[in-house]
Amino acid sequence: MLGLIMDQPLLISSLLTHAARNHGDTEIVSRTVEGGIHRYTYADAELRARKLAAALARLGVAPGDRVASLAWNGYRHFELYYAVSGAGAVMHTVNPRLFPDQIAYIINHAEDKLLFVDLTFVPLVEKLAPVCKALKGVVVMTDRAHMPPSLPDALCFEELVAAETGGFEWPVFDERTASSLCYTSGTTGNPKGVLYSHRSTVIHSYAIVSPDVFNLSSRDCVLPVVPMFHVNAWGLPYAAPLAGTKIVFPGAQLDGASLYELYEQEGVTATAGVPTVWLALLNHMKQNKLKFSTLDRAVVGGSACPPAMIKSFAEDFNVRCQHAWGMSEMSPLGTFCTLKGKHLALPKDQQFEVLTSQGRALYGVEMKIVDGEGKPLPHDGKAFGDLLVRGPWITSGYFKDEGGNPLRDGWFPTGDVATIDADGYMRITDRSKDVIKSGGEWISSIDLENAVMAHPAVGEAAVIGIAHPKWDERPLLIVVKKPGAEVTREELLKFYEGRVAKWWIPDDVVFVEALPHTATGKLLKLKLREEFKHHQLPAA
Ligand code: AMP
Repeated sequence: MLGLIMDQPLLISSLLTHAARNHGDTEIVSRTVEGGIHRYTYADAELRARKLAAALARLGVAPGDRVASLAWNGYRHFELYYAVSGAGAVMHTVNPRLFPDQIAYIINHAEDKLLFVDLTFVPLVEKLAPVCKALKGVVVMTDRAHMPPSLPDALCFEELVAAETGGFEWPVFDERTASSLCYTSGTTGNPKGVLYSHRSTVIHSYAIVSPDVFNLSSRDCVLPVVPMFHVNAWGLPYAAPLAGTKIVFPGAQLDGASLYELYEQEGVTATAGVPTVWLALLNHMKQNKLKFSTLDRAVVGGSACPPAMIKSFAEDFNVRCQHAWGMSEMSPLGTFCTLKGKHLALPKDQQFEVLTSQGRALYGVEMKIVDGEGKPLPHDGKAFGDLLVRGPWITSGYFKDEGGNPLRDGWFPTGDVATIDADGYMRITDRSKDVIKSGGEWISSIDLENAVMAHPAVGEAAVIGIAHPKWDERPLLIVVKKPGAEVTREELLKFYEGRVAKWWIPDDVVFVEALPHTATGKLLKLKLREEFKHHQLPAA
């Protein structure tokens, strides 16, 4: 027997119409690429998104067509998200920090019809347009006065919107329809496209606003530092309208001073970004002896957050730094770290220990860890193995079947190695390709990085495996010192004593000016392994 409940499709457009109806005067504030602050409301955004959807149809964009963007976090990008998906087409956000030939590959693979760009990326588009054959046009996300003379055929975003009356109505269709497309950063091989649906996006939004996740409400103000081209800014542009949360978009200026100014001016309560962004913000705060007056929580994800960062947010700034884990293939959120009721009576250091994990699975995500033969491992917080996931917002295969079926018995292998404890808290020990294999045992490069990050002279650290004649691989520590700080190799190696098992202590240390990062802020260990592959370990 079936239930007698309305079978209404879960559509992305409904998130924005809900916000416009119930939070019509709630603000969306953007720092613009042209300079200055733009301020309007959910009601304004919804009307303009409908006008833009009508303009897309006029330009020949049909349901299922892909529309690409190369843009920062801002109100026009937000309108584009809703106009494209709301009309039944596919919003394809492209990461402008990738190499131009990777971007061209992605745009061609997706067969994007139109490309929307912020002024910042006009020089990039000049190079891309001739090699992206399927593109029918470029729209610059600005007004007539700022249109670049170098792209005479490009259309003007504001003119497209102004030409429409707003009579467009959001179409209703199957909730499993593709809504947006995001390519994985692909450190090896070609990038692969993850294709989200309206259904997966809406239920992911329900999950991430909940109290043990982003905890968003109509009393909050959220500033996503994580770009809208990095897995849909972790879902915040969809979750904020669902909850009626004020949004602040930071545009192109993601440095500590610019972010701090917005946090204070706009009364931001929640923010989200990768560790490298927070490192710069915390340095700026400390150098200038600043305090936050409204910021309550800073969510960190995308790569492992050093425990020292969680501590500094809490102790120096009274901000809860919350660890989130996920990936493009997971829309992206899989776990989020908050304490349970039973932890509240624990001493601070034991609470802190819990908070350094990647957290518990959101409802909707199932996790398991398996050994090399695929046998399930116990959830005892000690056994570590390959982490597999499944759920209604996790990918079942890549766009155009690139790479074949990625699933193993219906589970998606994340490529991460982790432990899970009896309370469900998951802890990433490594990427499976970064783990250091020494004498048949595994050493976690992340644990070694986290341990040394607690040293006051260490700004950033990476640990990689170096070939060793006896042990197969041994760890090498690569360190960027904090500005003006001094520390020696011997001091750092001694610092590990008592913090990690003796046989885990790196064999050598090198100091560098900077570490390489991927386009989404992860340490580029592939490049480090390449650069240091001939490094002579002292004991080898
Ligand atoms: P992407 O698909 O580019 O977002 O990358 C996903 C990968 O980033 C994951 O598989 C993890 O290896 C890594 N990652 C994301 N969040 C975290 C986290 N909180 N701690 C450690 N690694 C993370």
